[in-house]
Amino acid sequence: MPSLIFRKGLDLKQAVAGMLAENYHSDVIRQIKEQNFTYGSGRLTVYLAKEFGFCYGVDRAVDYAYQTRQRFPDRTVYLTGEIIHNPHVNDKLRAMGIRFLTDEGERFDALGESDVVILPAFGVTMEMLQKLDHQGCTLVDTTCGSVLNVWKNVRRYAEQGYTSVIHGKVWHEETQATASQAVSRGGCFLVVYNDQEAAAVCDVIRTGDASRFPATLLSAASAGFDPARDLARVGLANQTTMLMSESLAIADMFKSAMTERWGTTELASHYQAFDTICSATQDRQDAVEQLIREHPVDLMLVIGGYNSSNTANLARICAAARPTYHVADPDCLISADEIRHRPVGTKTEIARLGWLPKSGPVHVGLTSGASTPDNLVGAAIAKLEAFCSTTTTI
Ligand code: SF4
Repeated sequence: MPSLIFRKGLDLKQAVAGMLAENYHSDVIRQIKEQNFTYGSGRLTVYLAKEFGFCYGVDRAVDYAYQTRQRFPDRTVYLTGEIIHNPHVNDKLRAMGIRFLTDEGERFDALGESDVVILPAFGVTMEMLQKLDHQGCTLVDTTCGSVLNVWKNVRRYAEQGYTSVIHGKVWHEETQATASQAVSRGGCFLVVYNDQEAAAVCDVIRTGDASRFPATLLSAASAGFDPARDLARVGLANQTTMLMSESLAIADMFKSAMTERWGTTELASHYQAFDTICSATQDRQDAVEQLIREHPVDLMLVIGGYNSSNTANLARICAAARPTYHVADPDCLISADEIRHRPVGTKTEIARLGWLPKSGPVHVGLTSGASTPDNLVGAAIAKLEAFCSTTTTI
């Protein structure tokens, strides 16, 4: 039996609005926004980025999850995995009785017509969608419109015979879902993570020597990928949450390699590009750059899940200009002396001592990823305020 799919909510927006506000809203943050995104208390000044926190896609996904719980109180409601990459939000959903198919003991093949499955903001692969449909589950699709826009471009590339070269993380759900869209239209894909990988692929394009294609990249490509055949026509796309400057640089690298190989007149039939960074990601990256340009901050605090791609990229921008602490949660702010954070470019959280100046004025720049609710940012500010009030003022 075909699945029932809800794509535009479940008509319960008003019914869950109070609960969402209670769980994620922050009065302090609302006030700081009204005070030109600046908060002062004693020797502490906090500058908030002008765009931070929940994006439109995450807002909608979380809203739909709450509506789903309300609409189906007697049915088992699942998420295919994390709805967004924020442990606080995922824990709240678990506490509401929503089960995660990625949790130990859950069985995908046991799902049936009585079950309701929520698809996350970054989408699911075609394979997973077909399985859920086949098993007759009721689906609530929260895939963000900006992700759907990437899929549209990737499908078009496939239909026109172009290989989709996706700047993204091959292990990230969104990139896997995007790649599956190319395959669903009979196309190929190749995921490149950074400019080094892009340079290696561009070398193959420029020289026409397929033997130079790095074997390690075959696991980031569609089955049966043949560099000699599948790099003749490429269309560029990206995971929506990548670093904009890096995505644009990679697109330029491919354009110049294709021009060298095929000449300017042939370029259009061998290369296409479409900027698929979402506007929310772009706005947050621009805002943090503006904050650093305009304010003499001593350090940057970036709040968001360690597996959140857009948060990690905000931290990269900050770390290039100021001492930066990417923390998963306000609980990572242990004391005025100690913080637990994940240094940019590493995969491990570490403890650091002496992170906050012990005396004199302290200027902290603050931003948060698109999957971080305001109440966590508010809690971090409250901790900063407490730490600065208990240390010496000059
Ligand atoms: S980060 Fe962008 S693509 Fe992802 S959910 Fe938010 S708005 Fe949508």
